[in-house]
Amino acid sequence: MSLTNDERVAAQALLDFIDVSPSPWHAVANMVQRLEGAGFTALDERAPWTLEPNRGYYVVRDGSSLIAFHTGDGAVADHGFRGIGAHTDSPGFRIKPAPVKRQAGLDTLGVEVYGGPILATFADRDLTLAGRVLVRDDASGDITPHLFHGQQPMLRLPNLAIHLNRTVNTEGLKYDLQDELPLILGTLQSELPGQDAFREILAKQVGASTASVRAWELAVADTQPGAFFGLGEAFIANSQLDNLASCHAGLEALLTAKDKGSGVRFIAYFDHEEIGSRSFKGAESPFLPDTLERIAESFNVTGADYRRALNQSLILSADMAHAHHPNYARYYDLEHAPRLNEGPVIKINVNQRYATDGVAEAIFEGLCQEADVPVQKYVHRNTLPCGSTIGPITAGRIGVRCVDVGNAMWSMHSLRESAGAADHDKMIRVMTHFFQRDRLPQLASA
Ligand SMILES: [Zn+2]
Repeated sequence: MSLTNDERVAAQALLDFIDVSPSPWHAVANMVQRLEGAGFTALDERAPWTLEPNRGYYVVRDGSSLIAFHTGDGAVADHGFRGIGAHTDSPGFRIKPAPVKRQAGLDTLGVEVYGGPILATFADRDLTLAGRVLVRDDASGDITPHLFHGQQPMLRLPNLAIHLNRTVNTEGLKYDLQDELPLILGTLQSELPGQDAFREILAKQVGASTASVRAWELAVADTQPGAFFGLGEAFIANSQLDNLASCHAGLEALLTAKDKGSGVRFIAYFDHEEIGSRSFKGAESPFLPDTLERIAESFNVTGADYRRALNQSLILSADMAHAHHPNYARYYDLEHAPRLNEGPVIKINVNQRYATDGVAEAIFEGLCQEADVPVQKYVHRNTLPCGSTIGPITAGRIGVRCVDVGNAMWSMHSLRESAGAADHDKMIRVMTHFFQRDRLPQLASA
């Protein structure tokens, strides 16, 4: 296999985006920067909105959930909404509020497990911290978040030597989540006691006083940059391909298609998918329905007309899919086991773990055909419990048809995931076509 220039450029752009987006807050900040550069205007949910046709806007909720949209001709009741949904968070470790524990002269940082990472993939890697530090202004009481991304390796989870863990290869690498996950930091040298000494490090990093650092939301991130691998550089590896690949593809599509097509086109990216989406900024929150309603109201589309709009809308719920793994064929339904580099995947589950229905499946397959992009289908093996996405939550929350799609990948929820280098460009192409097609295909008779 050899990559086309477009495929290589798209995959490299994705790796570069992930390298500077080690936390959901960084991912959103980087996407905001792209949107600003393309002339999109920031909106604040606490202020009134006055929207104009043929303009781009974005709104951020708490730094890690983002909705960006282009208003098109503003005729929402006639054209409905076209959206791409995804999530900004990835499973892993988060630093506790009082994380420092000293044993035998060494300070370690205690973590909570966020979502469902493959824990063993964090062992023996050059880890760092990334996220936000929350600083309080004592006069006003207001809280200012400061983004922090440690560039050098700061932390490590060393394996126990095989001589002390003889069954590691036969029984797998297992962790006691309380006692065996604290990460080696080193030895804190400070006048301050342990917890404050760590607070002092963060305060210095963000240029605040130690006392003003009141909280943090810090993920444990890998420091190894993304890479191509395999013959013909057919594959890519990085952390957080699930689901920053979908975020990046949707953003590229919106920026390319913004001035074409009709009606409102949006991307809606949520934090907290990996822990169930139930929060004030997750996919189960009113963030998307509130935003769609406010967009519609700006164009005097309310009540029954707003419902008409929703009923002719479509959302691509974009999240990664499980690629066939040659060493583990027995875990797949081989008629529905997508291959890397063979195009976007439609994810189907009749129990609605994925939101795709027959109509949405047929529409998305048609869009791929029109965009000259191959398409594949995934169905989970009947004997295994199927994962889920924001698709069913979004469809149920706002009553809009969704199709669950995504590129295939290996090792989902590993700290170092892998995917096909040619697929990212294909996904961008079909998403761009979805946004810029003159009209959205509909169910012919409801
Ligand atoms: Zn995901």
